[in-house]
Amino acid sequence: MAIIVQKFGGSSVANAERIFRVAKRVGETYDAGNQVVVVVSAMGDTTDDLIALASQITSNPSAREMDMLLSTGEQQSISLLAMALMEMGYSVASLTGWQAGYHTDGVYSRSRIQYIEPSRVLREIGHGNIVVVAGFQGISQDGDITTLGRGGSDTSAVAMAIALKADVCEIFTDVDGVYTADPRIVKSAWKMPEISYDEMLEMAAMGAVVLQPRSVELAKQYNLTLHVRSSFNYNEGTIVKEVATMNKDMEKEMVVCGVAHDTNVVKASIFGVPDIPGAASEIFNKLARSGINVDMIVQSGTRDSKQDMSFTAVRSDRKKIEAVLSDVVENMPAESYALDDTVAKVSVVGAGMISRPGVAAKVFQVLSKNNINILLISTSEIKISCIVDELETKKAVRALHTAFELDADTLVNVEA
Ligand code: ADP
Ligand code: ASP
Ligand code: MG
Repeated sequence: MAIIVQKFGGSSVANAERIFRVAKRVGETYDAGNQVVVVVSAMGDTTDDLIALASQITSNPSAREMDMLLSTGEQQSISLLAMALMEMGYSVASLTGWQAGYHTDGVYSRSRIQYIEPSRVLREIGHGNIVVVAGFQGISQDGDITTLGRGGSDTSAVAMAIALKADVCEIFTDVDGVYTADPRIVKSAWKMPEISYDEMLEMAAMGAVVLQPRSVELAKQYNLTLHVRSSFNYNEGTIVKEVATMNKDMEKEMVVCGVAHDTNVVKASIFGVPDIPGAASEIFNKLARSGINVDMIVQSGTRDSKQDMSFTAVRSDRKKIEAVLSDVVENMPAESYALDDTVAKVSVVGAGMISRPGVAAKVFQVLSKNNINILLISTSEIKISCIVDELETKKAVRALHTAFELDADTLVNVEA
């Protein structure tokens, strides 16, 4: 008997009709003779709605209370899905994160899973029950509920599949799989039958929200194959695994496998920083101590023993960055700082670029031809990212997608 972990995201359980659709799918998997553990997200935009609700109460909510609040979204979904399955005649047990054995490091809002103690889940499936588990949440050593960061239910599902040594881990979402770009903005995007962990990780880290980056990291670490597919149809989705199967047409191997974008970006600059050893260390240590995850960093050349630095981070950290930079300006001292949250990051990703020169040049040429100004650049072995004006995001993504010959012949029809 196989153990199958199936994860359903927010839009897949957005209303009663969709919950029944999920229940039908889960029931079919169970009826085929499998042991089934289902991980679910909060219904539709529930998490965003709860965040908005909290902001009506306070502009500075306690991190512990935020996690307490946000975890209720997933708890609604597990009980409703369990009820739907019971209506259809199945025996079910719904479990919160802590009941399912997720133990976290206790960092509110972005906890990491330390281990899963799956005895309760195993007992329930042993009794023949379908188990429905709340994603995105776990319990700290102190017994507090903590959440795993936005999109964290993907990581919950992958971690559970690893802990149970599951035979299959399916991530059901509102698109057919992983595309060469977000199919909502590039209609000619192409669904990849397979993608390697490394490329998926870069795509996800660069803004392709179809999988939380940490879920891909974890799957890679334990060599767990993922199947990303739609909860709205039975099409084969995308397999995420170690190395994609060799292309039939070897010479036509793609240099770039996809284009990703991220509009959740703020660009910060600090001007007139003293050009002395330790200045960058002091600034970035202060940012780290405030819990700010810095992404791209650029340092300009020196003039008059001073230099400028720019970096990017997630937009929701804007206030914390402002506090750190005003402290630096006052106490280091530096001359001034500026923040810009009208920018976006566009990235091209592909393992093929390691051995092919000229990819960066082509990216810059495409953007310049389209009159798109590049504000910052960063590269890794398998990706090139540029910060551009947020208003240019779609144009940039579409132009790069076409230039790197990723356009499919048929256009995507996104249902949900
Ligand atoms: P879920 O609620 O199922 O977790 P998400 O909204 O987190 O769903 O992720 C699915 C969304 O990811 C899609 O609706 C799509 O707009 C977006 N997306 C961004 N980039 C990609 C990509 N390269 N391939 C597929 N989907 C993508
Ligand atoms: N509900 C959480 C979120 O919206 C977790 C998830 O959907 O994966 O981020
Ligand atoms: Mg998601």
